[in-house]
Amino acid sequence: MLADRRTKIVATIGPAIRGKDNLRRAIAAGMNVARLNFSHGSHEDHLEVIKDLRALSVEMHAPLTILQDLQGPKIRVGRFENGAIEIEEGEKVVITVKDVLGKPGLIPSDFKRLPQSSRVGGRIMLDDGLLELRVDAVDGDEVHCTVIYGGVLKDRKGMNVPGGELSVDCLTEKDLKDLEFGLKHGVDYVALSFVRRGDDIRKLRELIQAQGSSARIVAKIEMLEAIENLEEVVRLSDGVMVARGDLAVEVGQTRLPQIQKQIVKLCNSVGRPVITATQMLDSMTENPRPTRAEITDVANAVLDGSDALMLSAESASGRFPFRCIQTMHDIIVEVERNGDYFYDMRMDEQFSSVADGIGAASALTAMKLNATAIVCLTTSGKTATIISGYRPKARIIAVTHILPTLNRLELVWGIQTLKIDPYNSSDEAMQQIERLLLEYGLVKPGDKVILTLGVPVLERGTTNALRVYTIGREDIRRLSPEQLPTRYR
Ligand code: PGA
Ligand code: MN
Repeated sequence: MLADRRTKIVATIGPAIRGKDNLRRAIAAGMNVARLNFSHGSHEDHLEVIKDLRALSVEMHAPLTILQDLQGPKIRVGRFENGAIEIEEGEKVVITVKDVLGKPGLIPSDFKRLPQSSRVGGRIMLDDGLLELRVDAVDGDEVHCTVIYGGVLKDRKGMNVPGGELSVDCLTEKDLKDLEFGLKHGVDYVALSFVRRGDDIRKLRELIQAQGSSARIVAKIEMLEAIENLEEVVRLSDGVMVARGDLAVEVGQTRLPQIQKQIVKLCNSVGRPVITATQMLDSMTENPRPTRAEITDVANAVLDGSDALMLSAESASGRFPFRCIQTMHDIIVEVERNGDYFYDMRMDEQFSSVADGIGAASALTAMKLNATAIVCLTTSGKTATIISGYRPKARIIAVTHILPTLNRLELVWGIQTLKIDPYNSSDEAMQQIERLLLEYGLVKPGDKVILTLGVPVLERGTTNALRVYTIGREDIRRLSPEQLPTRYR
């Protein structure tokens, strides 16, 4: 059941999954977050997707996070005469920064300063490090290389020059235009690629605020410098992505597992939702079933403490996009079935706000009273996010009538959302909530439910109170699955 899964699923949208019918299937299969990858596609394409998603979200009663992923200063190869070339170990190839079509032996690159950034003897990686070249000579606009690891190189694949200097700014001209477009059309989160330091986040935040948007920021950790400044970057962001594709190339692939755990742990401890991304079910781009290693990788990313796991090409351009979402769902649910997975009642940090205190107290009370659900009356979703950080076994239900909050919370571990009618007191709110919880089959009479709220309720202040209710009504019937909102099925 969708309602039972706590770890969220991010699916990248692309040709395999565009169009209203496909997107409906993706949501029904369990997509919580739609990632629009601005490395590909026109504004027209993205706008159509945004409109389709928002319409479906209403139609299916399924809040949905839209995550705009900015390309950043990603270096890419250009296009080839036949869409791809094959390069072989030992072969000599030339990379040119001239704007030409590539062909066997000639690879165009869009990074104009590649010759200046290349050192003789240095490495150039292609397609997330799948292919590798060694630099033999730099000659004007050209970099002459020998192929170390060969294979097929397709149009517009990524290129990395480990240790090479990227442009100083992680927002390119294209990113600024894309950002303006995304904010105009109400994306919930903006993901910033190739973040290096806190100032990168501050700058993006200023741009978002200048446009009067409430979009939140996901920092993509994929550079060595971001690891060096990790704590600052994480604290300044609203969410984090372990962007394993570029990260593995930048830090050296064997360091990836440790760094993944380090990032996830830090995010958990300071309460930032964290997405583990890239190649989670890679072989399913072509095959209907994942490898054992992929199944285990997905399970381990859940155990590490990820809030969400991401599909990239698997959903955007693969052969089995819906099956990928389903497979990811099934693996996650199985991991979460184990009771040891829950309760991370770390108490080592001071509380930095009243909401922090109420959040911790509600998770602890839920655990010790064996409560079934923690319900948060919220406007920003802050308290619910804090509670999520404790990974309680009790369900976390965030209640609000504010649509951007409902949508945004789809990224955060374990949070389910409910929209209720306006209320004048906590008891009035709780009456509506009790009915819905019973109708949705989430609680039964006699169950304990924790409520967090800001009192006085009518002032809609920040969270400062915790109450415990016992479900008393016996007269409310459970709805049949087809009557339930999508995410409660
Ligand atoms: P990308 O980011 O797909 O935009 O490169 C994710 C990653 O690098 O893993
Ligand atoms: Mn990347």
